[in-house]
Parts: sequence; structure tokens; C-alpha cells
Amino acid sequence: MTAPSTSPARVRFAPSPTGFLHLGGLRTALFDWLYARHTGGQFILRIEDTDQKRYNPESLTDLMRSLRWLGLEWDEGPDVGGPHAPYIQSERRALYREYAEWLVAQGKAYRCYTTEAELEELRARGLPYDRRHRNLTPAERAAFEAEGRSAVIRFAAPLSGTTTVHDAIRGNISVENATIADPVLLKSDGLPTYHLAVVVDDHLMEITHVLRGEEWIPSAPLHQLLFEAFAWPAPIFVHLPVILDPSGKGKMSKRKTVVDGREFSPYVRDYMAGGYLPDAVFNFLANMGWSFDAEREIFTREEAVARFDVADISPKATALPFTKLEWMNGVYIRQMATAQLVDALAPYVAADLGLDAEALRHDRRLIELTPLVQERIKLLTEATALIDWAFVPATQITYPDPTQLIGKKLTATESLDVLEAGARIIERIEPFTPPALEAAFRTLSETMQIKVGSLLTPFRVAITGKTVAPPLFESMHVLGREETLTRIGNAAAALRTLAATTV
Ligand code: GLU
Repeated sequence: MTAPSTSPARVRFAPSPTGFLHLGGLRTALFDWLYARHTGGQFILRIEDTDQKRYNPESLTDLMRSLRWLGLEWDEGPDVGGPHAPYIQSERRALYREYAEWLVAQGKAYRCYTTEAELEELRARGLPYDRRHRNLTPAERAAFEAEGRSAVIRFAAPLSGTTTVHDAIRGNISVENATIADPVLLKSDGLPTYHLAVVVDDHLMEITHVLRGEEWIPSAPLHQLLFEAFAWPAPIFVHLPVILDPSGKGKMSKRKTVVDGREFSPYVRDYMAGGYLPDAVFNFLANMGWSFDAEREIFTREEAVARFDVADISPKATALPFTKLEWMNGVYIRQMATAQLVDALAPYVAADLGLDAEALRHDRRLIELTPLVQERIKLLTEATALIDWAFVPATQITYPDPTQLIGKKLTATESLDVLEAGARIIERIEPFTPPALEAAFRTLSETMQIKVGSLLTPFRVAITGKTVAPPLFESMHVLGREETLTRIGNAAAALRTLAATTV
């Protein structure tokens, strides 16, 4: 265990809105948030949308919805504002240009007029940019301008030596400066590249810790050089381990992954719609590259905030076990108080059955059925199939296969007798409660000399239309005496028809 950090950190999540947020991105945001909260600092949301070609407007809405769903509220960001607004890079373009020009004035960056065709020629030969315009004379520059060529601003990277970046969990990462081929900082459309914008913003927004995916490791030395060129202190870098596909073989797919014949999506929105609880997803993702301790897999948000430290993040790539997420969701469902689970289930059940979610929250049937299904579901989406029978009229409970109404080792006629005997009990029993019903049906099983299991099957199918359903006497109670009798009557009629045609 590490001692809690004391100085408040400023940590940003800086996604590019190019598509729907996936679980890997959400894990980065979660670690950013955890560290900010652990240190009593700030969590900042910054939108890196300077690549206009890849911009997807739907993605921003999806991103914010997903973060809020997980409970990762940001202290500063596009919609909430903050001391360093705006937090959307395309709204900050004038700023980046200013800083790029400053580097040019200092001789640390230069205008490059190389045409797209010339660059393509280099690429075709497998060559990087050859710094051909790094030392243009004023006359040469004027000639290109006169030709009407557009210019980009490139960084004049050191031509020799090594740059070493320290990563808090990986140690030193070094590159030969000569391999940094004067990357573009400002494009000809006046927009910055990621490298310029990220460095300028991390500085201006006073970011202390950069926690981001390990795919950004190759960019870190360049960022460090840019911080040095501006004479700004660099933040602490922490490159988070990549999330692998469940097989552990490759990077998690951007499409669906198939595990044991079932499809799992990489997108957070599919978990929101798919009956997952934010607390379970939070807990699950916190285990992807960090661990609470050697034994505990299940912990609360508060416990994670209290203990989280970057020093404890493992740089090792982790496979994402989707089925474990499902299991964990079941654990969280079982831990919920009934009232909480009713609230969580209502929107799913309402959507499935075309009911009003708000009304359903207060519906006695859902309130009574919830504890009965709590142990049986791993996803909120699984409840409807177990309880839908309670929300439809008796006419909608049909028996397309009336043989299902026959108890084990019974004939159709015997099952019919059972239903009729049971109906006589239900008509009169006082009080009409699950324990009283259970006692009466046990006695019936003894009198009729039929095992309880076989005796109850006809009733289960009669009232729910299903062979697998929540506990029977509670289900009868949910329906009420009249409705229970109606359904038993309908089932008896179906059995009578069956008995008549098969005898
Ligand atoms: N905009 C980059 C992304 O889409 C952010 C990388 C970083 O955090 O520096 O992941």
C-alpha cells in the first residue's frame, strides 16, 4: 500500500470525438478521475477535435453521456466551463497559431512549403520528411510565397542527441532526436496538430499528470521537446496499459468480440443499453491495470478513491474478460436494496413492455417481483422475460403447447384434476398469502399422493405461460386471487381440449 498523495493533481481526459466511446477510453477517463479525486484535485474534460476530417458530432454527446453514466463528473469542461475555457480545441485555434508563431520567431520552428506531391514522393520511397525547408533563405521563402504555395509550421527538432521521458510506471523512455523528423505543428488550414495543441493546452490548463493510453508513448519524447522549447515544465507522464481482447492475443477489437459464441461490444453505449450497472462497470474497469489489493476484486467508489495511486498501476497489458463483467454485474444486482433495483429495472421493463417507466416504479407488481428475480439475473435486461406475465391480461397467456401444463409422471387428466383441486383451495383460502398457499398445497400433495414438483408444474405454466418462472406462491400473490383463478381456468380449458383429442 502506498501513502496517499497530498498535492492536488490536475488531470485531464482529452478524447478526440471521432466515434463512440469504447471501454478502453472509459478506463482512461476512470483512472484520470480516480487520481484527481484521490488527491483532491480537478478532473478536466478537454475535447481534441482539431482533426476536422475525423470529427463526428454524435460522438461528443455519446462521450459526455457515457462519462456521466459512470459517475465521472468533470470539474472543468466544455459544458461546465472553468478558468481555462474554452475546453474544445477547435474554439482555441487563435491561441495555437500564436504559440506556433512564437516558436518560429525563436528559430525553434519554421515554415515549410513542401507540396503534397513532393511529400507523397518521399512516402512512396519509404522516407520521412527530409527537413528540406528547415534552412530556407528569406529570398527562397519569398519565392514560394509568390508562387502561392501554402505553408505549414514544422518543429525544428534537435538533430543529434537523445531525449529521455520519464514515465511514472515504466521508467525512462529514450529516443534518438535524429529520428524525430520535424513534425508539423500547425497545418496549412491554420489548425494545430495534436502535438502542438496537447502541449499548449496541458501547459495553459496547468495539467500536472498526463494519464493516457500506451499508444501515445511514441509521441511523448516530442511532447517533452516541445515543453522544453517553450521553457515550460512538463507534466508527469503515465502511459496506461493497453486493453487486450479476451484471448489476450491482440488489441481489443473496435468491432464486436465473440466469446463462447456470444457477441460483446467495445462501446460503452451498448453496456448502458444492455442492462449493466454503472457501479459494476466502474469496479470492473478499475481492475483493468490497477488492483485494490491482492485479494479484493469488489470495492466501492469511495474505497477506490481512497486507495488509488498512479504508482500502483501496472504497465502490463490486460485482457478484458467480458464474462467477468457480466458476473460482476450480477454481484452488484444482488447487493442492491429492493427499492434501488426497482428503480433500475423500471426503465428496461417499461421499454420492453411498452409501459410508462415512472408509473412502473410505483407498481405493486414490480415491487413484489423484484426480490424474486434479484438472485436470477445478471443483467437488468434479463428481468422482463421472467416477469412479463404479470403485466398482461389473462387473455395474453396462451398455451401454444398445452403438454407443458402436464406435471412430471402425470397424465393430462390427472393434471386437470390437480388444477381443479388447486382452484378450489385458492377460491377459499384465507389469508391469500404465500405461506398459507404453500401449506395448503403441501397438504394437497399428500392427499393426492403427488410429488410437490409435479403438482406445481401445471400451476406455474397456467399463471405465467412459462416453465421457468419466479417462485409460484409469490407469483400468485402478485396476480391476486381473481386473476390467478382466471388463468387456472383458462389452462384447465386448454388441458380439457388436449385430453379430449388425445384419449
Ligand atoms: N486526443 C488524444 C486521444 O484521442 C489524447 C491523447 C492524450 O491524452 O494526450 O486519445
